[in-house]
Amino acid sequence: MCEAGEDTDNGNDAQYLSAIDAGPFYAVKEYDLTRGNYGGIETNLEGEVTDKDGNAIPGLYAAGIISSAGFFGDYYPGREALGVGAYMGFISGENAAKYAAK
Ligand SMILES: Cc1cc2nc3c(=O)[nH]c(=O)nc-3n(C[C@H](O)[C@H](O)[C@H](O)COP(=O)(O)OP(=O)(O)OC[C@H]3O[C@@H](n4cnc5c(N)ncnc54)[C@H](O)[C@@H]3O)c2cc1C
Repeated sequence: MCEAGEDTDNGNDAQYLSAIDAGPFYAVKEYDLTRGNYGGIETNLEGEVTDKDGNAIPGLYAAGIISSAGFFGDYYPGREALGVGAYMGFISGENAAKYAAK
């Protein structure tokens, strides 16, 4: 396909074709993995865990990707997990500390 100048496998622009024609070549066995468990616990924007009716459960906070249900639901588009993990960690931690100090 490189020599012919046309990607007949995937139809991509020929400028992205790059010949791999010089060894040595190695084989690597790869396994599926997960990038995490998205969804699960629902929280409000204060980091409070909510019940099935959306009401906050007093004193129960969650943070990190396990609490991403309100952000991603059934679909995680990718690349936003570290942001949600970081800022919900900050928000939930701060609010949990305030609750504990009451
Ligand atoms: C290969 C890969 C690539 C990724 N690429 C991206 C990317 O490009 N962009 C992006 O935004 N996200 C990416 N992610 C997802 C992102 O890294 C995670 O969603 C994020 O790190 C989750 O952070 P977290 O703090 O919620 O959870 P974690 O980082 O999983 O932290 C949970 C912590 O809890 C600890 N723990 C578990 N059980 C217990 C227990 N019983 N007691 C005490 N401690 C416990 C664990 O040891 C761990 O340290 C990627 C993930 C993977 C695996």
